[in-house]
Amino acid sequence: MELVNKFNELVAKQKAYIYVLTLAGWDSATEAPRGAFQRRAEMLGVISGELFNLQTSKEYQDVVYGLFKRLDELDDITKREIKKAKKGLDKIIKIPKEEFVEYNKLIGLSQRKWEDAKHNNDYEGFKGNLEQIFMYNKKFVAYYNKDEHPYNIMLDGFEEGMSMKEYDEFFNTLKKDLVPFVKEVLNSGKKLNDAFITDFYPKEKQKEFAEYLIEVLNFDKNSGLMKESVHPFTWNTHSTDVRFTTRYLENFMFSSIFAAIHELGHATYEQQIDSKWDDTTLSGGTSMGIHESQSRFYENNIGRSIEFWEAHYPKLLEIFPEQLKDVSLDDFYRGVNKVEASFIRVEADELTYPMHIMVRYEIERMIMNNEVTVDELPKLWNDKMVEYLGIEPKDFAEGVLQDVHWSAGLIGYFPTYALGSAYSAQFYYTMIKEIDVEALVKGNNIKVINEWLKEKIHNFGSSRTPKELLFDVTGEDFNPKYYIKYLKEKYSKLYL
Ligand SMILES: [Zn+2]
Repeated sequence: MELVNKFNELVAKQKAYIYVLTLAGWDSATEAPRGAFQRRAEMLGVISGELFNLQTSKEYQDVVYGLFKRLDELDDITKREIKKAKKGLDKIIKIPKEEFVEYNKLIGLSQRKWEDAKHNNDYEGFKGNLEQIFMYNKKFVAYYNKDEHPYNIMLDGFEEGMSMKEYDEFFNTLKKDLVPFVKEVLNSGKKLNDAFITDFYPKEKQKEFAEYLIEVLNFDKNSGLMKESVHPFTWNTHSTDVRFTTRYLENFMFSSIFAAIHELGHATYEQQIDSKWDDTTLSGGTSMGIHESQSRFYENNIGRSIEFWEAHYPKLLEIFPEQLKDVSLDDFYRGVNKVEASFIRVEADELTYPMHIMVRYEIERMIMNNEVTVDELPKLWNDKMVEYLGIEPKDFAEGVLQDVHWSAGLIGYFPTYALGSAYSAQFYYTMIKEIDVEALVKGNNIKVINEWLKEKIHNFGSSRTPKELLFDVTGEDFNPKYYIKYLKEKYSKLYL
Protein backbone atom coordinates (compact mmCIF):
# COMPACT_ATOMS: atom_id res chain seq x y z
CA MET A 1 0.00 0.00 0.00
CA GLU A 2 1.37 3.37 -0.95
CA LEU A 3 0.40 4.98 2.34
CA VAL A 4 2.38 2.32 4.21
CA ASN A 5 5.45 3.07 2.09
CA LYS A 6 5.04 6.74 2.89
CA PHE A 7 4.77 5.90 6.60
CA ASN A 8 7.98 3.84 6.45
CA GLU A 9 9.76 6.64 4.66
CA LEU A 10 8.74 9.23 7.28
CA VAL A 11 9.70 6.91 10.13
CA ALA A 12 13.11 6.26 8.54
CA LYS A 13 13.77 9.99 8.46
CA GLN A 14 12.77 10.45 12.11
CA LYS A 15 14.99 7.51 13.00
CA ALA A 16 18.00 9.20 11.43
CA TYR A 17 17.45 12.27 13.64
CA ILE A 18 16.96 10.08 16.69
CA TYR A 19 20.17 8.24 15.81
CA VAL A 20 22.20 11.45 15.81
CA LEU A 21 20.61 12.69 19.04
CA THR A 22 21.17 9.35 20.74
CA LEU A 23 24.83 9.30 19.72
CA ALA A 24 25.30 12.80 21.06
CA GLY A 25 23.51 11.73 24.23
CA TRP A 26 26.00 8.91 24.78
CA ASP A 27 28.82 11.36 24.33
CA SER A 28 27.26 13.80 26.83
CA ALA A 29 26.84 11.11 29.46
CA THR A 30 30.31 9.64 29.13
CA GLU A 31 33.12 11.69 27.62
CA ALA A 32 32.06 15.18 26.54
CA PRO A 33 34.00 17.89 28.39
CA ARG A 34 31.92 19.87 30.88
CA GLY A 35 32.78 23.14 29.21
CA ALA A 36 31.05 22.03 26.01
CA PHE A 37 27.59 21.71 27.52
CA GLN A 38 26.23 25.14 26.68
CA ARG A 39 27.07 24.93 23.00
CA ARG A 40 25.94 21.31 22.82
CA ALA A 41 22.59 22.16 24.35
CA GLU A 42 22.07 24.88 21.73
CA MET A 43 23.04 22.66 18.80
CA LEU A 44 21.09 19.67 20.03
CA GLY A 45 18.14 21.96 20.73
CA VAL A 46 18.02 22.75 17.00
CA ILE A 47 18.11 19.07 16.01
CA SER A 48 15.48 18.15 18.62
CA GLY A 49 13.27 20.95 17.31
CA GLU A 50 13.58 19.55 13.78
CA LEU A 51 12.72 16.09 15.03
CA PHE A 52 9.69 17.43 16.87
CA ASN A 53 8.52 19.08 13.65
CA LEU A 54 8.87 15.81 11.77
CA GLN A 55 7.06 13.87 14.46
CA THR A 56 4.11 16.26 14.50
CA SER A 57 4.03 17.39 10.84
CA LYS A 58 0.76 17.56 8.98
CA GLU A 59 2.14 15.05 6.51
CA TYR A 60 2.94 12.51 9.23
CA GLN A 61 -0.42 13.04 10.94
CA ASP A 62 -2.28 12.50 7.66
CA VAL A 63 -0.42 9.26 7.03
CA VAL A 64 -0.85 7.87 10.56
CA TYR A 65 -4.50 8.84 10.99
CA GLY A 66 -5.20 7.79 7.39
CA LEU A 67 -3.78 4.33 8.03
CA PHE A 68 -5.51 4.10 11.40
CA LYS A 69 -8.83 4.33 9.56
CA ARG A 70 -7.79 1.42 7.37
CA LEU A 71 -6.39 -0.85 10.10
CA ASP A 72 -8.36 -3.83 8.81
CA GLU A 73 -6.41 -3.78 5.57
CA LEU A 74 -3.01 -3.96 7.33
CA ASP A 75 -0.94 -6.95 8.39
CA ASP A 76 -0.49 -7.50 12.14
CA ILE A 77 2.93 -5.92 12.34
CA THR A 78 1.96 -2.75 10.49
CA LYS A 79 -1.22 -2.62 12.55
CA ARG A 80 0.83 -2.57 15.74
CA GLU A 81 3.14 0.09 14.33
CA ILE A 82 0.24 2.34 13.40
CA LYS A 83 -1.55 1.93 16.73
CA LYS A 84 1.67 2.79 18.51
CA ALA A 85 2.31 5.79 16.25
CA LYS A 86 -1.24 7.08 16.74
CA LYS A 87 -0.99 6.79 20.50
CA GLY A 88 2.25 8.78 20.43
CA LEU A 89 0.76 11.45 18.20
CA ASP A 90 -2.44 11.81 20.21
CA LYS A 91 -0.42 12.47 23.32
CA ILE A 92 1.53 15.33 21.76
CA ILE A 93 -0.80 17.12 19.41
CA LYS A 94 -3.72 17.43 21.81
CA ILE A 95 -1.63 19.58 24.17
CA PRO A 96 -1.73 23.32 23.35
CA LYS A 97 1.72 24.30 22.09
CA GLU A 98 2.23 27.13 24.67
CA GLU A 99 1.55 24.74 27.53
CA PHE A 100 3.91 22.17 26.06
CA VAL A 101 6.68 24.78 25.84
CA GLU A 102 5.97 26.06 29.36
CA TYR A 103 6.08 22.55 30.73
CA ASN A 104 9.39 21.75 29.07
CA LYS A 105 10.84 24.92 30.50
CA LEU A 106 9.56 23.94 33.94
CA ILE A 107 11.14 20.51 33.67
CA GLY A 108 14.45 22.02 32.52
CA LEU A 109 14.54 24.28 35.58
CA SER A 110 13.23 21.70 38.01
CA GLN A 111 16.16 19.37 37.51
CA ARG A 112 18.59 21.96 38.83
CA LYS A 113 16.19 23.02 41.57
CA TRP A 114 15.79 19.44 42.70
CA GLU A 115 19.55 18.91 42.82
CA ASP A 116 19.95 22.02 44.97
CA ALA A 117 16.99 21.13 47.18
CA LYS A 118 18.33 17.64 47.79
CA HIS A 119 21.80 18.96 48.47
CA ASN A 120 20.54 21.62 50.91
CA ASN A 121 17.79 19.45 52.39
CA ASP A 122 15.35 22.17 51.36
CA TYR A 123 11.93 20.73 50.51
CA GLU A 124 10.29 24.17 50.75
CA GLY A 125 12.48 25.38 47.89
CA PHE A 126 11.29 22.62 45.59
CA LYS A 127 7.70 21.85 46.45
CA GLY A 128 6.34 24.64 44.21
CA ASN A 129 7.96 22.99 41.17
CA LEU A 130 6.66 19.63 42.23
CA GLU A 131 3.13 20.97 42.52
CA GLN A 132 3.36 22.48 39.03
CA ILE A 133 4.73 19.27 37.53
CA PHE A 134 1.87 17.23 38.93
CA MET A 135 -0.63 19.88 37.85
CA TYR A 136 0.60 19.88 34.24
CA ASN A 137 0.65 16.12 34.02
CA LYS A 138 -2.94 15.84 35.25
CA LYS A 139 -3.95 18.48 32.72
CA PHE A 140 -2.09 16.84 29.82
CA VAL A 141 -3.57 13.40 30.31
CA ALA A 142 -7.03 14.97 30.41
CA TYR A 143 -6.40 16.50 26.96
CA TYR A 144 -5.48 13.07 25.73
CA ASN A 145 -8.30 11.11 27.32
CA LYS A 146 -10.98 12.46 29.63
CA ASP A 147 -12.67 9.14 30.28
CA GLU A 148 -9.75 7.25 31.78
CA HIS A 149 -8.29 7.81 35.25
CA PRO A 150 -5.25 10.10 34.82
CA TYR A 151 -2.92 7.76 36.70
CA ASN A 152 -3.93 4.84 34.47
CA ILE A 153 -2.83 6.82 31.44
CA MET A 154 0.49 7.64 33.06
CA LEU A 155 1.04 4.00 34.08
CA ASP A 156 0.23 2.75 30.60
CA GLY A 157 2.74 5.24 29.20
CA PHE A 158 5.56 3.32 30.90
CA GLU A 159 4.09 -0.16 30.78
CA GLU A 160 1.59 -0.80 28.04
CA GLY A 161 -1.61 -2.33 29.32
CA MET A 162 -0.93 -1.83 33.03
CA SER A 163 -3.38 0.13 35.17
CA MET A 164 -4.13 0.68 38.83
CA LYS A 165 -6.28 -2.44 38.80
CA GLU A 166 -3.29 -4.71 38.09
CA TYR A 167 -0.84 -2.74 40.18
CA ASP A 168 -3.20 -2.60 43.17
CA GLU A 169 -3.49 -6.34 43.02
CA PHE A 170 0.28 -6.69 42.71
CA PHE A 171 1.14 -4.40 45.59
CA ASN A 172 -1.66 -5.73 47.80
CA THR A 173 -0.25 -9.21 47.32
CA LEU A 174 3.20 -7.93 48.30
CA LYS A 175 1.74 -6.18 51.31
CA LYS A 176 -0.07 -9.28 52.47
CA ASP A 177 2.52 -11.96 51.65
CA LEU A 178 5.87 -10.24 51.51
CA VAL A 179 5.90 -7.45 54.11
CA PRO A 180 5.59 -9.88 57.08
CA PHE A 181 8.35 -12.05 55.58
CA VAL A 182 10.65 -9.06 55.12
CA LYS A 183 10.10 -8.11 58.76
CA GLU A 184 10.88 -11.65 59.84
CA VAL A 185 14.16 -11.57 57.91
CA LEU A 186 15.08 -8.12 59.22
CA ASN A 187 14.45 -9.30 62.78
CA SER A 188 16.23 -12.63 62.42
CA GLY A 189 19.30 -11.22 64.14
CA LYS A 190 21.59 -13.18 61.85
CA LYS A 191 25.10 -11.78 61.91
CA LEU A 192 27.23 -11.93 58.78
CA ASN A 193 30.97 -11.92 58.33
CA ASP A 194 30.69 -8.93 56.03
CA ALA A 195 33.47 -6.46 56.88
CA PHE A 196 35.08 -7.35 53.56
CA ILE A 197 32.26 -5.60 51.69
CA THR A 198 33.60 -2.13 52.47
CA ASP A 199 37.27 -3.03 52.16
CA PHE A 200 39.47 -1.18 49.66
CA TYR A 201 39.37 -2.57 46.11
CA PRO A 202 41.47 -0.54 43.65
CA LYS A 203 39.58 0.67 40.61
CA GLU A 204 41.98 -0.82 38.06
CA LYS A 205 41.50 -4.27 39.58
CA GLN A 206 37.73 -3.85 39.63
CA LYS A 207 37.90 -3.00 35.93
CA GLU A 208 39.72 -6.23 35.29
CA PHE A 209 36.86 -8.15 36.86
CA ALA A 210 34.24 -6.15 34.94
CA GLU A 211 36.02 -7.09 31.70
CA TYR A 212 35.95 -10.71 32.82
CA LEU A 213 32.19 -10.45 33.44
CA ILE A 214 31.66 -9.29 29.87
CA GLU A 215 33.18 -12.55 28.70
CA VAL A 216 31.23 -14.62 31.19
CA LEU A 217 27.93 -13.15 30.06
CA ASN A 218 28.87 -13.54 26.40
CA PHE A 219 28.34 -9.92 25.51
CA ASP A 220 29.19 -9.32 21.84
CA LYS A 221 32.02 -6.78 21.89
CA ASN A 222 31.92 -6.47 18.14
CA SER A 223 28.52 -4.79 18.53
CA GLY A 224 28.96 -3.01 21.81
CA LEU A 225 31.25 -1.60 24.47
CA MET A 226 31.52 -0.70 28.14
CA LYS A 227 32.52 2.65 29.69
CA GLU A 228 32.23 4.43 32.99
CA SER A 229 29.67 6.96 34.25
CA VAL A 230 28.35 8.30 37.56
CA HIS A 231 24.98 6.61 37.07
CA PRO A 232 25.28 3.33 35.18
CA PHE A 233 23.01 2.99 32.14
CA THR A 234 22.55 1.16 28.86
CA TRP A 235 22.37 2.92 25.54
CA ASN A 236 21.56 1.71 22.07
CA THR A 237 20.59 2.84 18.63
CA HIS A 238 20.04 -0.62 17.17
CA SER A 239 21.10 -4.22 17.76
CA THR A 240 24.62 -3.78 16.40
CA ASP A 241 25.50 -0.81 18.58
CA VAL A 242 24.72 -1.38 22.24
CA ARG A 243 26.79 0.34 24.92
CA PHE A 244 26.62 0.39 28.68
CA THR A 245 28.40 1.86 31.66
CA THR A 246 29.30 0.86 35.16
CA ARG A 247 30.94 2.75 38.01
CA TYR A 248 33.77 1.96 40.37
CA LEU A 249 33.52 2.74 44.08
CA GLU A 250 36.78 1.70 45.70
CA ASN A 251 35.15 1.07 49.08
CA PHE A 252 32.14 -0.75 47.68
CA MET A 253 33.11 -3.23 44.99
CA PHE A 254 29.61 -4.75 44.76
CA SER A 255 28.44 -1.57 43.13
CA SER A 256 30.56 -2.10 40.01
CA ILE A 257 29.98 -5.86 39.85
CA PHE A 258 26.20 -5.70 40.06
CA ALA A 259 25.82 -2.52 38.04
CA ALA A 260 27.83 -4.21 35.28
CA ILE A 261 25.76 -7.40 35.41
CA HIS A 262 22.51 -5.41 35.54
CA GLU A 263 23.43 -3.27 32.55
CA LEU A 264 24.76 -6.32 30.71
CA GLY A 265 21.23 -7.71 31.10
CA HIS A 266 19.71 -4.65 29.44
CA ALA A 267 22.43 -4.73 26.79
CA THR A 268 22.02 -8.43 26.02
CA TYR A 269 18.30 -7.87 25.46
CA GLU A 270 19.05 -5.10 22.95
CA GLN A 271 21.81 -7.04 21.20
CA GLN A 272 19.59 -10.06 20.72
CA ILE A 273 16.71 -8.20 19.08
CA ASP A 274 16.25 -9.26 15.45
CA SER A 275 17.75 -6.64 13.14
CA LYS A 276 14.65 -6.82 10.94
CA TRP A 277 12.98 -4.38 13.37
CA ASP A 278 15.77 -1.79 13.07
CA ASP A 279 13.99 0.38 10.51
CA THR A 280 10.59 0.11 12.15
CA THR A 281 9.03 1.65 15.24
CA LEU A 282 9.14 -1.82 16.80
CA SER A 283 12.88 -1.83 17.44
CA GLY A 284 14.18 -1.90 21.01
CA GLY A 285 12.82 -3.67 24.09
CA THR A 286 9.06 -3.75 24.40
CA SER A 287 8.57 -1.97 27.75
CA MET A 288 10.28 -0.62 30.83
CA GLY A 289 9.05 -3.57 32.89
CA ILE A 290 10.22 -6.24 30.47
CA HIS A 291 13.56 -4.47 30.10
CA GLU A 292 13.97 -4.36 33.84
CA SER A 293 12.98 -8.03 34.06
CA GLN A 294 15.98 -8.88 31.90
CA SER A 295 18.50 -6.72 33.76
CA ARG A 296 17.29 -8.02 37.11
CA PHE A 297 17.25 -11.58 35.91
CA TYR A 298 20.96 -11.38 35.12
CA GLU A 299 21.76 -9.31 38.19
CA ASN A 300 19.76 -11.25 40.80
CA ASN A 301 18.66 -14.65 39.54
CA ILE A 302 22.06 -15.33 37.98
CA GLY A 303 24.54 -12.85 39.47
CA ARG A 304 23.50 -13.31 43.09
CA SER A 305 23.16 -17.09 42.93
CA ILE A 306 25.49 -19.49 44.70
CA GLU A 307 26.18 -21.27 41.39
CA PHE A 308 27.45 -18.08 39.83
CA TRP A 309 29.96 -17.55 42.60
CA GLU A 310 30.96 -21.20 42.69
CA ALA A 311 32.07 -20.61 39.13
CA HIS A 312 33.59 -17.13 39.45
CA TYR A 313 34.69 -16.57 43.03
CA PRO A 314 38.09 -18.17 42.23
CA LYS A 315 38.67 -15.48 39.61
CA LEU A 316 37.76 -12.73 42.06
CA LEU A 317 40.11 -14.26 44.64
CA GLU A 318 42.87 -14.27 42.08
CA ILE A 319 42.34 -10.53 41.48
CA PHE A 320 41.92 -9.60 45.17
CA PRO A 321 43.96 -12.20 47.11
CA GLU A 322 44.64 -9.86 50.05
CA GLN A 323 41.16 -8.38 50.55
CA LEU A 324 39.38 -11.73 50.29
CA LYS A 325 41.91 -14.04 51.94
CA ASP A 326 39.71 -14.80 54.98
CA VAL A 327 36.40 -14.71 53.11
CA SER A 328 34.89 -18.09 52.33
CA LEU A 329 32.63 -18.66 49.33
CA ASP A 330 29.71 -18.93 51.73
CA ASP A 331 30.59 -15.61 53.42
CA PHE A 332 30.85 -14.01 50.03
CA TYR A 333 27.53 -15.41 48.83
CA ARG A 334 25.82 -14.21 52.00
CA GLY A 335 27.51 -10.83 51.59
CA VAL A 336 26.14 -10.26 48.10
CA ASN A 337 22.67 -11.12 49.40
CA LYS A 338 22.82 -9.08 52.57
CA VAL A 339 19.40 -7.78 53.61
CA GLU A 340 19.05 -4.55 55.50
CA ALA A 341 16.38 -1.88 55.99
CA SER A 342 17.78 1.21 54.27
CA PHE A 343 16.55 4.58 53.11
CA ILE A 344 17.89 4.87 49.58
CA ARG A 345 16.05 2.91 46.89
CA VAL A 346 18.97 2.56 44.48
CA GLU A 347 21.12 1.02 47.20
CA ALA A 348 18.44 -1.36 48.50
CA ASP A 349 18.90 -5.13 48.40
CA GLU A 350 16.78 -7.47 46.32
CA LEU A 351 14.37 -8.34 49.15
CA THR A 352 13.60 -4.89 50.57
CA TYR A 353 13.64 -3.20 47.14
CA PRO A 354 9.94 -3.70 46.34
CA MET A 355 9.04 -2.01 49.66
CA HIS A 356 10.63 1.18 48.35
CA ILE A 357 8.57 0.95 45.18
CA MET A 358 5.38 0.30 47.13
CA VAL A 359 5.92 3.56 49.04
CA ARG A 360 6.23 5.48 45.78
CA TYR A 361 3.32 3.78 44.05
CA GLU A 362 0.94 4.45 46.91
CA ILE A 363 2.01 8.08 47.10
CA GLU A 364 1.72 8.68 43.36
CA ARG A 365 -1.70 7.08 43.38
CA MET A 366 -2.83 9.47 46.12
CA ILE A 367 -1.39 12.48 44.32
CA MET A 368 -3.14 11.58 41.07
CA ASN A 369 -6.35 11.06 43.06
CA ASN A 370 -5.96 14.52 44.65
CA GLU A 371 -5.87 12.89 48.07
CA VAL A 372 -2.69 14.56 49.27
CA THR A 373 -1.03 17.98 48.90
CA VAL A 374 2.67 18.61 48.30
CA ASP A 375 2.88 19.96 51.87
CA GLU A 376 1.89 16.58 53.22
CA LEU A 377 4.26 14.49 51.10
CA PRO A 378 7.35 14.36 53.36
CA LYS A 379 5.38 13.09 56.34
CA LEU A 380 3.41 10.64 54.24
CA TRP A 381 6.67 9.29 52.83
CA ASN A 382 8.20 8.84 56.27
CA ASP A 383 5.08 7.18 57.67
CA LYS A 384 5.12 4.62 54.88
CA MET A 385 8.82 3.90 55.38
CA VAL A 386 8.08 3.18 59.04
CA GLU A 387 5.12 1.00 58.10
CA TYR A 388 6.95 -1.19 55.56
CA LEU A 389 10.58 -1.08 56.65
CA GLY A 390 10.45 0.09 60.23
CA ILE A 391 12.82 3.02 59.72
CA GLU A 392 12.22 6.76 59.53
CA PRO A 393 14.25 9.08 57.25
CA LYS A 394 16.00 11.77 59.25
CA ASP A 395 15.83 14.38 56.48
CA PHE A 396 14.27 15.12 53.07
CA ALA A 397 17.35 14.02 51.15
CA GLU A 398 17.01 10.45 52.35
CA GLY A 399 13.23 10.69 52.18
CA VAL A 400 10.95 12.35 49.68
CA LEU A 401 13.71 14.21 47.78
CA GLN A 402 15.96 11.24 47.00
CA ASP A 403 14.83 10.36 43.46
CA VAL A 404 15.21 12.38 40.27
CA HIS A 405 12.03 10.99 38.66
CA TRP A 406 9.33 13.46 39.73
CA SER A 407 11.52 16.47 38.95
CA ALA A 408 11.84 15.07 35.41
CA GLY A 409 8.08 14.62 35.10
CA LEU A 410 8.33 10.82 35.31
CA ILE A 411 5.17 9.88 37.17
CA GLY A 412 4.06 6.26 36.91
CA TYR A 413 7.56 5.03 36.14
CA PHE A 414 8.53 3.62 39.56
CA PRO A 415 6.13 0.65 39.58
CA THR A 416 7.85 -0.84 36.51
CA TYR A 417 10.98 -1.47 38.62
CA ALA A 418 9.17 -3.84 40.96
CA LEU A 419 7.14 -5.25 38.12
CA GLY A 420 10.37 -6.10 36.29
CA SER A 421 11.58 -8.21 39.21
CA ALA A 422 8.22 -9.95 39.37
CA TYR A 423 8.21 -10.63 35.62
CA SER A 424 11.71 -12.02 35.88
CA ALA A 425 10.62 -14.50 38.57
CA GLN A 426 7.71 -15.62 36.39
CA PHE A 427 10.05 -16.10 33.40
CA TYR A 428 12.53 -17.90 35.64
CA TYR A 429 10.08 -20.59 36.77
CA THR A 430 9.24 -21.30 33.14
CA MET A 431 12.89 -21.35 32.15
CA ILE A 432 13.91 -23.91 34.79
CA LYS A 433 11.28 -26.31 33.44
CA GLU A 434 13.04 -26.23 30.08
CA ILE A 435 16.75 -25.85 30.81
CA ASP A 436 18.94 -26.62 33.82
CA VAL A 437 19.75 -23.06 34.82
CA GLU A 438 21.72 -23.94 37.94
CA ALA A 439 24.00 -26.35 36.09
CA LEU A 440 24.48 -23.92 33.21
CA VAL A 441 25.45 -21.08 35.53
CA LYS A 442 27.74 -23.27 37.58
CA GLY A 443 29.32 -24.65 34.39
CA ASN A 444 29.95 -21.12 33.09
CA ASN A 445 27.63 -21.76 30.16
CA ILE A 446 25.44 -18.68 30.21
CA LYS A 447 25.36 -18.71 26.44
CA VAL A 448 22.59 -21.31 26.52
CA ILE A 449 20.54 -19.07 28.83
CA ASN A 450 21.08 -16.12 26.49
CA GLU A 451 19.85 -18.23 23.60
CA TRP A 452 16.71 -19.25 25.48
CA LEU A 453 15.95 -15.61 26.24
CA LYS A 454 16.67 -14.64 22.65
CA GLU A 455 14.28 -17.20 21.25
CA LYS A 456 11.49 -16.58 23.77
CA ILE A 457 11.75 -12.85 24.48
CA HIS A 458 14.53 -10.79 22.97
CA ASN A 459 14.26 -11.37 19.22
CA PHE A 460 10.71 -9.94 19.09
CA GLY A 461 11.77 -6.38 19.95
CA SER A 462 8.59 -4.37 20.54
CA SER A 463 6.49 -6.36 18.10
CA ARG A 464 4.73 -8.02 21.03
CA THR A 465 3.20 -6.15 23.95
CA PRO A 466 4.48 -6.99 27.45
CA LYS A 467 1.25 -8.84 28.19
CA GLU A 468 1.42 -10.90 25.00
CA LEU A 469 5.05 -11.72 25.62
CA LEU A 470 4.48 -12.82 29.21
CA PHE A 471 1.59 -15.01 28.18
CA ASP A 472 3.40 -16.49 25.17
CA VAL A 473 6.45 -17.40 27.25
CA THR A 474 4.86 -18.54 30.51
CA GLY A 475 1.37 -19.60 29.39
CA GLU A 476 -0.10 -17.33 32.05
CA ASP A 477 -1.01 -13.72 32.61
CA PHE A 478 1.06 -11.74 35.08
CA ASN A 479 1.09 -13.55 38.41
CA PRO A 480 2.98 -12.05 41.39
CA LYS A 481 2.99 -15.35 43.29
CA TYR A 482 6.18 -16.39 41.45
CA TYR A 483 8.01 -13.35 42.71
CA ILE A 484 7.02 -14.05 46.30
CA LYS A 485 7.87 -17.73 45.93
CA TYR A 486 11.30 -16.87 44.54
CA LEU A 487 12.12 -14.37 47.31
CA LYS A 488 10.85 -16.62 50.08
CA GLU A 489 12.72 -19.69 48.82
CA LYS A 490 15.96 -17.80 48.49
CA TYR A 491 15.92 -15.70 51.66
CA SER A 492 14.49 -18.32 54.03
CA LYS A 493 17.54 -20.40 53.22
CA LEU A 494 19.84 -17.47 53.85
CA TYR A 495 18.23 -16.00 56.94
CA LEU A 496 15.69 -18.23 58.68
ZN1 LIG B 1 17.74 -1.20 34.83
